[in-house]
Amino acid sequence: GRLVEGLNKTRDNIVSGMDSVFGGFSSIDDDFYEELEEVMIMGDLGVTATYDILDDLKEKVKERHIKNPADCRELLIESIRDQMSVGAVEYEFEEMNPVIMVVGVNGVGKTTTIGKLAGQYHAQGKRVIVAAADTFRAAAGEQLKEWADRAHAELIGGQEGSDPAAVVYDAVAAAKARHADILLCDTAGRLHNKKNLMEELRKMNRIIDREYPEACRETLVVLDATTGQNALQQAKEFKEVADITGIILTKMDGTAKGGIAVAVQAELGIPVKYIGVGEKMEDLQRFDPDQFVKALFT
Ligand code: GDP
Repeated sequence: GRLVEGLNKTRDNIVSGMDSVFGGFSSIDDDFYEELEEVMIMGDLGVTATYDILDDLKEKVKERHIKNPADCRELLIESIRDQMSVGAVEYEFEEMNPVIMVVGVNGVGKTTTIGKLAGQYHAQGKRVIVAAADTFRAAAGEQLKEWADRAHAELIGGQEGSDPAAVVYDAVAAAKARHADILLCDTAGRLHNKKNLMEELRKMNRIIDREYPEACRETLVVLDATTGQNALQQAKEFKEVADITGIILTKMDGTAKGGIAVAVQAELGIPVKYIGVGEKMEDLQRFDPDQFVKALFT
């Protein structure tokens, strides 16, 4: 369905290239591996993942006495899937009162993603509260309010320029009073001012520690897949300022750079938990490496 469709450009970019390598060689030699490597690097799989995957492929080729390049296709799919499954632990949504902090720079789709998450949890019968703690951006609150309304979630907002920690404090109070299942916190994404950002996130976390100790916490970084290697760089920088537990890759639809899903996971050791495949509420999917690889190589 949407995933297969959403990966059309990425498939054209990566899989078509791989298939021409499989078809263009009559034996498995260094040139063959080099060509594959080039396709993978150009396809945004990243150096780390590419080397790991190719090492694994070489081992499999040896072990299974594969001689024909065409027979490597299935093995490569297997290697990519294995590589992606590392560290992909399931988040326990059954747990009580998860607090989900969402970080990411402006324009990556953070507001949209929070709205989609809120809507999906609501559809699962969960009571959702959204904290508009990105008080730095003028339009952020308004846009988030629209999404929260659509998602039947309650929005706790602050005035523009007000203290984000105070918004979190109010949101925690509301979450406890109303027995919310999920508290989603939008946060400012000012990576250019890392020290301030780190302080701000720390302050929010301290309030949650103190006021809501029973809540289990997750920090998700939202990255725009269309920016390819820049997304990877952003993720690294966020990892320096926050304890990131998961990655959300937006705008996977219509980009040829979907290979970045493989790269971020390999480079950061943090699982991709969701991908955005469009602008609507339903266009956020739980990321499953198996499904992803299947959809890509369909
Ligand atoms: P923010 O500045 O990070 O809060 O970004 P927004 O949530 O405002 O999103 C920026 C733009 O990206 C908007 O036009 C969204 O509709 C769009 N967008 C967000 N996620 C996706 C996605 O998964 N696919 C597509 N095609 N567009 C998206």
